[in-house]
Amino acid sequence: MSLEVQETPATGSPTAAPSRVPRLRINEIFHSLQGEADAVGFPSVFVRLTGCPLRCTYCDTEYAFHAGEWLELPEILARVRGYGARHVCVTGGEPLAQPNCLQLLERLCDAGYAVSLETSGALDIAGVDARVSRVVDVKTPESGEAARNRIENFPHLTARDQLKFVIGSRADFDWSREFLAEHELAGRCQVLFSPSYGKLAPTALADWILEERLPVRFQLQLHKILWGETPGK
Ligand code: SF4
Repeated sequence: MSLEVQETPATGSPTAAPSRVPRLRINEIFHSLQGEADAVGFPSVFVRLTGCPLRCTYCDTEYAFHAGEWLELPEILARVRGYGARHVCVTGGEPLAQPNCLQLLERLCDAGYAVSLETSGALDIAGVDARVSRVVDVKTPESGEAARNRIENFPHLTARDQLKFVIGSRADFDWSREFLAEHELAGRCQVLFSPSYGKLAPTALADWILEERLPVRFQLQLHKILWGETPGK
């Protein structure tokens, strides 16, 4: 995808070159409690970018595939600032599908926010600002998108990052366990195992983790416990 810019005349001189203002297509910006990963429970501003090249079977944000408005970076930053939260989560869709997402992340870090990025694991994370906490999905077979896992991302992961498996069945669990061992992921960053909402009983997954002595962190999606699948929460 090409760089999305809007050319606006620079002020001060009629002959000055136009300035190029990066912009992004934004599905929604809202304030809620972080429902997942390391910042769970913190009041956070969510910036949801439009678009995703994947089609996971369990996707709960299909409404973000197409709808959205183009906003320039300063406008996005102003809206985020308006909520007065310390944590900001850039999510989607697949936020990295818009190259200008990298600039947004950098600007948010520069502004002093604790920034996290939720990404599908299918796109390159190498260019993401090192101050960002990256929450990277590993797509399991039941997602229908396991072929999209970009294993070239794994060497870039650090203790600041998290790998997230959404598990829909015992077969998914066994696949995830083997995937962890095969790619030696357990010591690289935090590994999160989540039951697929409405598909796998949370207790079953908790029991399997304990029985198998897996060094992973169990998590439930806090926002769904509180508000179900209400968009904007
Ligand atoms: S990567 Fe995320 S947004 Fe894209 S289809 Fe899968 S669950 Fe939905």
